Amino acid sequence: MDISIVVPAYNEEESLGELVAWIDRVAKAEKLSYEIIIVDDGSSDNTWKEITRLSQENQGVRGIKFRRNYGKSAALNVGFEAAQGEVVFTMDADLQDSPDEIPEMRRMILEDGYDLVSGWKKVRHDPLDKRLPSKLFNRVTRRISGIKLHDFNCGLKAYKKDVVKTIEVYGEMHRYIPLIAKEAGFKRIGEKVVTHYKRKFGVSKFGIERTIKGFLDLLTVVFATKFGKSPMHLFGALGTLMFLIGFLATIWLGAKKLYCVYNGIPMQLLTSNPYFYIALVGIIMGTQMFLAGFVAELVTRNSPERNKYQIAERL
Ligand code: UDP
Ligand code: MG
Repeated sequence: MDISIVVPAYNEEESLGELVAWIDRVAKAEKLSYEIIIVDDGSSDNTWKEITRLSQENQGVRGIKFRRNYGKSAALNVGFEAAQGEVVFTMDADLQDSPDEIPEMRRMILEDGYDLVSGWKKVRHDPLDKRLPSKLFNRVTRRISGIKLHDFNCGLKAYKKDVVKTIEVYGEMHRYIPLIAKEAGFKRIGEKVVTHYKRKFGVSKFGIERTIKGFLDLLTVVFATKFGKSPMHLFGALGTLMFLIGFLATIWLGAKKLYCVYNGIPMQLLTSNPYFYIALVGIIMGTQMFLAGFVAELVTRNSPERNKYQIAERL
């Protein structure tokens, strides 16, 4: 099979027919064998009925139906598990992404050697309250991840099959697939400017709360990939540093007080000295951090994932 197209669909009954016909047109013109895996993410409209109808009309259409709404990431994840094509695409169901981009993105994967090619909605047809947070989000993600992409959350992406069989997308992590892929060792990440259309039918499934969730997820991804395997490296270092500050401040205060007492020099009470509080907080926080790191270390030691490595090849 040449290509798989994974389409998450949550209440998208009106769009699916048109989308499948369009993909079919493009694939036929390029003589590509294809499968379209539509994942019904617990829709409450006739999405599943529509998928059933389409799969009867078209051999290439496959459907997976969730019993309830799990979110886009979950839909992509099961689509990835099912995909059999040499190159795997993801595409939104709402006709905002153009199937016309498929041939060129496929070429970039097969010939230019990219592991992942992400779409870039350079001219974007979405409301301003969506575009502005998105700009900021992309800038921050670019800075933190070191991946030079303009549009991390573009629904249209192409992957080498290996990538989708290796990575795991859960929660709301679909925004960070390039980071997850990079972390799994797929470093050749490319970008292609893609045409973006206005949503034709239905409504957007994400509200303004996506911005907040997005940033929290970014923290999780960065934190988990940087320190998830060795939490002690972060917490231990911070804890030790804090403890040392507190400890040194205590010694200094104690020594000074004793010196003053012995020599009969009048001195203020320790409790009216700001350093006293810094010392106190430093010691307490330092110990807490250290303990947190230690406990986290124990947790990761017991994780079944602790010895799971991504092996690319064997001879
Ligand atoms: N989607 C999904 N589950 C959800 C929310 C969205 O499968 O819980 C799908 C939706 O059907 C669409 C894609 O994810 O195919 C992108 O959603 P949407 O178009 O609402 O996002 P936007 O274009 O507003 O970013
Ligand atoms: Mg959309």
